[in-house]
Amino acid sequence: MRLILLGPPGAGKGTQAKRLETQFGIVQISTGDMLRAEVAAGSAVGQEARAVMEAGGLVSDDILIRMLGSRIDRPDCARGFILDGFPRTVPQAEALDRLLEGRGMRLDAVIELRVDVPALVERIAGRFTCATCGAGYHDTFKRPRTEGTCDVCGGHRFVRRADDSRATVEARLDAYQQQTAPILPHYAAHGLLHPVDGMAAIDTVTAEIMAVLARLEAGQAAPIR
Ligand code: ADP
Ligand code: AMP
Repeated sequence: MRLILLGPPGAGKGTQAKRLETQFGIVQISTGDMLRAEVAAGSAVGQEARAVMEAGGLVSDDILIRMLGSRIDRPDCARGFILDGFPRTVPQAEALDRLLEGRGMRLDAVIELRVDVPALVERIAGRFTCATCGAGYHDTFKRPRTEGTCDVCGGHRFVRRADDSRATVEARLDAYQQQTAPILPHYAAHGLLHPVDGMAAIDTVTAEIMAVLARLEAGQAAPIR
């Protein structure tokens, strides 16, 4: 299965992608995580991306398309993947079409998580992750079961993203509206777009995505056109 999780920053893409990864045994490909790894490694790509990411802008299409192309050729993608954070521009969506076509692959669905702006700001401001395994948490909506201990790996160190400040939220939401939202009609035109109410609780959103995928499997899903 090949899916795209689409939605503004803080919509819950990473949270849901990790659950789908476990459920279906397919990999999450988060271009944000890949870029943060490049920044941490101090690579040439990381050095180019760092300032753009901290300012809440989008890193160049060239870098992202190259990065994604080599990622989907890795063996762990053979069974399928969940794209989280890619594509983010019309040229990236068009490049993805070409990358998949060239490999005889096709997308099964694009799930759009719809969340309103005040909720996005609150989610981004309260987000933190386990420094050891990357499991995601929130100050209000998803605290670890035991305070200070990661539910998944038992780690005790947590981190917050440099770009998760109220100061950069506006720029990131703006980048979504200006550059990413225009790809929605592209997927609607291909009959692949399935909007899901991302305002609901985390478990409810997962159930709704699973219901869309079950309907697809049964040939009954009605995408937005
Ligand atoms: P994205 O990957 O789209 O940027 P995340 O999955 O990292 O978003 O979610 C952003 C924050 O909001 C995280 O702290 C996460 O725990 C929390 N969160 C995710 N989905 C929900 C939800 N449905 N309701 C409340 N909080 C959520
Ligand atoms: P994310 O973790 O998806 O919120 O991404 C964090 C940051 O990485 C974004 O604000 C962008 O600066 C950069 N980024 C991630 N994915 C892309 C992409 N597909 N295109 C351009 N920039 C990206």
